Parts: sequence; C-alpha cells; structure tokens
Amino acid sequence: MYSSCEPCPMCFAACVWAKMAKIVYACRIEDADKVGIRQIPIPSSLMNQLRRSNVDLVVDVLRDEGVKLFDAWRRKSMGSGV
Ligand SMILES: [Zn+2]
Repeated sequence: MYSSCEPCPMCFAACVWAKMAKIVYACRIEDADKVGIRQIPIPSSLMNQLRRSNVDLVVDVLRDEGVKLFDAWRRKSMGSGV
C-alpha cells in the first residue's frame, strides 16, 4: 500500500488482516498532527513490532513533499487559499 501518511492504528490493523506485505508512506503521524489531523500517536513500526506482523515498512518516502501537501491542505481548509 502507498499512502501520503503513516497508517493510524485502525488502518494498520486492516493492513495486517489483509496480509499486506508492504506499506510505503510519506509523512509521519507527527506531521499530520502539526496540521491538525489528530491521530492516536502509535507509530506503525511499534505496532508492527508488538503484533510481530513483519509488514515491510518503507518510511519517509518523499516526506518533504508530503509535508508541503499537508501544509497546503491546512491553508485551504482554513479558508485562506493555497
Ligand atoms: Zn487510519
């Protein structure tokens, strides 16, 4: 799975139950939090470890670009345009 953001606990569980072998994401939970997207702050790496699920996590792929998109989304959602 490719995602703009690190999966939340619900999404990570769904990925594990669907037997996904790899999750690739750009932004971390803390990046989402900075723009007001509130997540339960449990890193996917910790959930992977606790669950012993061995999902291949490829992290921080194009993270800077993802953070810029989050910032643009926040500006637009606040009504000040992009
Ligand atoms: Zn989620």
